[in-house]
Amino acid sequence: MDTHKGWNLQQSYTKLPDAFYTKANPSEVEKPELVLFNEALADELGLSTKPDPAIFGGNVVPEGAEPIAQAYAGHQFGQFTMLGDGRAVLLGEQVASEGERYDIQLKGSGRTPFSRGGDGRATLGPMLREYIISEAMHGLGIPTNRSLAVVTSGEYVQREDLLPGAVLTRVASSHLRIGTFQYAAGLQDYDKLKALADYTIERHAPELVDSEQPYLSFFEKVIERQAYLIAQWQLVGFIHGVMNTDNMTISGETIDYGPCAFMDTYNPKTVFSSIDRQGRYAYVNQPPIGAWNLARFAETLLPLFHEDQEKAVEMAQEAHAKYEKSYHSYWLKGMRSKLGMTTEEAQDQPLIEDLLEMMEKNEADYTNTFRALTLGRPNETAMYGKPAFTNWYKQWQARLERQESSEADVRELMKRTNPSIIPRNHRVEEALDAAVEEGDFSVAKQLLAVLADPYAYSEDQEVYAELPEPSAQPYRTFCGT
Ligand code: AMP
Ligand code: MG
Repeated sequence: MDTHKGWNLQQSYTKLPDAFYTKANPSEVEKPELVLFNEALADELGLSTKPDPAIFGGNVVPEGAEPIAQAYAGHQFGQFTMLGDGRAVLLGEQVASEGERYDIQLKGSGRTPFSRGGDGRATLGPMLREYIISEAMHGLGIPTNRSLAVVTSGEYVQREDLLPGAVLTRVASSHLRIGTFQYAAGLQDYDKLKALADYTIERHAPELVDSEQPYLSFFEKVIERQAYLIAQWQLVGFIHGVMNTDNMTISGETIDYGPCAFMDTYNPKTVFSSIDRQGRYAYVNQPPIGAWNLARFAETLLPLFHEDQEKAVEMAQEAHAKYEKSYHSYWLKGMRSKLGMTTEEAQDQPLIEDLLEMMEKNEADYTNTFRALTLGRPNETAMYGKPAFTNWYKQWQARLERQESSEADVRELMKRTNPSIIPRNHRVEEALDAAVEEGDFSVAKQLLAVLADPYAYSEDQEVYAELPEPSAQPYRTFCGT
């Protein structure tokens, strides 16, 4: 085993044709100060040297880095647009001790040729928000990019108000998106599209390199990953908020933590994003939007599926049709686990749906309902005392008795699948306020500490499971600015 410590950067992306990226250095910031650093992640990356704020602020480029801005396109709320890293640069790929490759990206690192009218900068609140929620997702066991560091820049950034600037270091298994393939398809050059697909397969599905139909199998793999990912979102009540095709990764990791938030009161129509006025990306729409995005992905791959385009479309449709079933089976499997079911019965799904329906009608908190069931405290649910719930509870208990698992095993399974805490909106806001308004990062650090293991059911998590005071205003989020 290679036991290097420190930067071990490579840049494989630049082996792609020039059209896929431009060289772009991070711009210097006035006074880089490290305010959050993820030591556990640094360790995984083999980076156990003392973190240098100058590097994570973009003032010094680490050894071996070859910074680039990636080109991509995407459907934003259904509209096709040319995009690209307008406020981020990829420093390179850190190769860790077992050979795992991680993109190291600075976000908020200044203008690039893709910035259009933007300033290339990011503000502290949204960067902290991304750090907290992405690390919470990791704690939940959901595929996600990670956050390594937040550096304040010592500069102010003009938004509606003047706000403190910050740079986030994002770590991902790659930043290849459906939008990267849309960009490639737009070049209308078979060789370039093939180069991108071959590169991606090698990076994210190397076992397919020598398969009979590598591109079709690759598409199927991405379908599986997206189906799995979106099912996991649904199971914890995560609302991504901006499922544009440029924000959907090929790796199947969650990326782009702008307007996302966790649902509190269970309502399938929940939308948090202030710009999503039609509710395109509402909770209930996430699974079908996943299908829509994958159809856009399929369109980009048609030339690689078959030289006869009619045949290619047929192949794409047949593969695409698997998404729904795949999504559903991941969801059902997850829901069974959340309710402690270790066997499969035909009536499981209606039983699950009955519960969800009652939760909606009674405005029950999503996380805390499952938490209460896990802890054997049905009295703590919003439905307690209602005859329909009493009846449901009896049916559920009878269902659990028909399987052989012990009560202890059922409880263990439920504890592993129902988080005791999520990054509740009021807690996230409280952490951001303390940091932005008072320069106090301890609130964020405490929140991060309890979110690291949301299945712990520890005493110090209890207070974080509490709901906010009822508010007349629904919670609103904004695209990461
Ligand atoms: P997002 O909504 O974060 O997915 O970003 C959409 C596009 O806008 C991407 O190409 C970003 O790089 C770009 N963008 C967002 N904010 C800025 C900014 N402040 N300066 C330049 N480009 C930006
Ligand atoms: Mg984006």
